[in-house]
Amino acid sequence: MGPAGPLFSSAQIGNSGAMTMRESRGRNADLIVRARRMYTVDRAFGRAEALAVKDGRILAVGSRAEIENYFSAPRHLDLGDACAYPGFMDPHCHFLSYGFVLQRPWLADTSSWEEAVALMAASEIPPSGWIQGRGWDQNRWKKKDFPDRSLLDRAFPRTPAIAIRIDGHAAVANAPALAAAGLDARSRVEGGMVLLRDGLPTGLLLDNAVDLVRAAIPAPSESEMRQALLKAQASCLSLGLTSVSNAGTELREVLAMERAHEEGSLDIRIYAMLAPSAENIETLARRGPLAKDRLTARSFKMYADGALGSRGALLLEDYADDPGNRGLQTLEEGELDRICGIARGCGYQMNVHAIGDGAARLVLEAYGRHLEPGNDLRWRIEHAQLLTDEDLERIARLRIVPSIQAVHAVSDMAWTESRLGPGRMYRSHRYRDLLEHCGWLANGSDFPIEKADPLRGFRAAAFRKDDEGRPEGGWSSDQAMERVDALKAMTIWAARANFEEGSRGSLEAGKWADIVALDRDLVEDGEDSLWDATVQATIVGGKILHRI
Ligand SMILES: [Zn+2]
Repeated sequence: MGPAGPLFSSAQIGNSGAMTMRESRGRNADLIVRARRMYTVDRAFGRAEALAVKDGRILAVGSRAEIENYFSAPRHLDLGDACAYPGFMDPHCHFLSYGFVLQRPWLADTSSWEEAVALMAASEIPPSGWIQGRGWDQNRWKKKDFPDRSLLDRAFPRTPAIAIRIDGHAAVANAPALAAAGLDARSRVEGGMVLLRDGLPTGLLLDNAVDLVRAAIPAPSESEMRQALLKAQASCLSLGLTSVSNAGTELREVLAMERAHEEGSLDIRIYAMLAPSAENIETLARRGPLAKDRLTARSFKMYADGALGSRGALLLEDYADDPGNRGLQTLEEGELDRICGIARGCGYQMNVHAIGDGAARLVLEAYGRHLEPGNDLRWRIEHAQLLTDEDLERIARLRIVPSIQAVHAVSDMAWTESRLGPGRMYRSHRYRDLLEHCGWLANGSDFPIEKADPLRGFRAAAFRKDDEGRPEGGWSSDQAMERVDALKAMTIWAARANFEEGSRGSLEAGKWADIVALDRDLVEDGEDSLWDATVQATIVGGKILHRI
């Protein structure tokens, strides 16, 4: 628990303390917000009761009496018994795909492949002409074998259909989908796989082979994209998210976000991590960072490997449950080096997905060729799920930012040991070690791979427990963080991972009034009570966008 800071410090009201307070007597604000308690998440981890907002930014934070004596405002928001925090940020998610997922068959809650296919068969054929299901996970089914296309072929003899695994790194495609992507028994895919049985594709695809099918699907129209964006936004705001980092953004997607920003319908703040395509580099990156109130683009997102669940994560040694297999390397080192060089030249950050310890090694070696120790370029390693001691040290030395998803630890806990064997378990999901080495880190969810609810990530980080509060005592609980650190990882540190700590991530004068209120005190309430915490209000730039 952090120290209780002064209610009304000079730093919060202005630089000259009492002087500023006197001058500001009777000052006009647009909005005054009150709550039982506000966690400012500033340097002192202070507590307050009220804040005043003007033109979307925080004017001052203090006690109820202080704020109400010094400011008058036409609007008051009394959050009653709720606790307020800086708006939650998700530093790594797939915001737009979440918007599409919300409109397509969602397969995560199925208990068998039969049920997943039935759900897809019951859905309407969208304008693209493709049926796209998402979210299956054979580990959650009674029968844990990977599925094949036979049922999908029967349900959709002529319509192309693809069912993507929860992690996005594996999929089952039916015969028309394979044909559309030009995949057959002879296909050899670099960084991916087309699985065969009796000389024929089973329909199961891994990593870059999944991307080949995705590439064959007609791009969504502008209005479909806008609809997806608005749907994702509404859902995220209701969950207390005020800022999201979209991992891997195409140019047309950035343009759709920019249009929404211009027409005033973009309420949430987006940090768009760009796919390093030629058009993104030429059209956006070469002009330097793009920074608007609600839309920032200043980084490249790449993938170095697949995921642990589908044994696509690149390991330094063989999978314990699949000897001879070390996973997939999904990019070439030369290409990674080229993009790192472009990023440095444009003032861009690198965000590279590396789940396996082999992928982490590859990425850190590449970063090491471009970064000097002590730099403040904040290049990030996304996921960082498996790390050797040596690479943990290297991350700290090169000042690389761990962009983790604590919630993956509890999603992976049931089968991590079978993938790695007991001898390598110390390398897995070691978030507290990362925090201790680096001093800070960012915690996101990777939604829609996980649910978008940021409180799941908070609980996984602080308690290493799943949605049911299991296991008792937490999974490898020596890697749990303090609650205060888990809160910072989704606010001020998440902002810092985006170079945005000057304008958001804490409740301080001058920053955007991005606020979330919960009916629970994340720092002080009993652990068990945090499982039914609900969002009471979400405010972005002083605008109340969700309220119950
Ligand atoms: Zn991701």
